[in-house]
Amino acid sequence: MKGKGLLVVISGPAGTGKGTVVNELVKDDNIVVSVSATTRSPREGEKDGVHYHFITREQFKQMIDNDDLLEYAQYCGNFYGSPKKMAEEKMKEGKDVILEIEVQGCEKIKKKNPDCVSIFIMPPSMEELERRLRKRGTETEEVILKRMERAKEEVALAKNYDYIVVNGPLEECVADVMSVINAEKLRAERFE
Ligand code: 5GP
Repeated sequence: MKGKGLLVVISGPAGTGKGTVVNELVKDDNIVVSVSATTRSPREGEKDGVHYHFITREQFKQMIDNDDLLEYAQYCGNFYGSPKKMAEEKMKEGKDVILEIEVQGCEKIKKKNPDCVSIFIMPPSMEELERRLRKRGTETEEVILKRMERAKEEVALAKNYDYIVVNGPLEECVADVMSVINAEKLRAERFE
């Protein structure tokens, strides 16, 4: 009785470790992560088509005009968007699709897809978040400060999500997110 897969939105400030959590979640064969399109430049080690589809502003505009995106948003000077095609195909196959996106994108998705599940990954503290952001060592001081500012705004919006999971020990956070996904799939209204 396998129905359509779930659309799961995962947000949280940059540096909160949500990428690591998502990497653990996709080890489950039934869970896939959507590869976003972005106009930001690749960081060292990031591969086109794997971490993001790295595209130009013109290409991004074209995707908006063609209605190819489920949602898109501007974040710290760059555009980010979730391609529609892959997410819709995978959900039809019964896979749960994770969108790892920031808060404005989540608001847009919720309006268009009210049955999506939204989870906010909360850093244990703002001090720990700054420590993690600096440890990554991939950003300039200016970018780190911009991202910390944005993090404070995002944490203030966490209450708009269906669930908040604190990212302390990784295994606990992953287990909590899996519990949410599994429980959501058992909702009576999803029974087909
Ligand atoms: P980063 O530059 O650190 O990879 O991502 C910056 C922020 O953009 C993160 O909060 C990330 O979750 C978010 N993001 C990544 N892809 C998308 C997307 O397709 N749409 C939206 N709205 N945000 C995204």
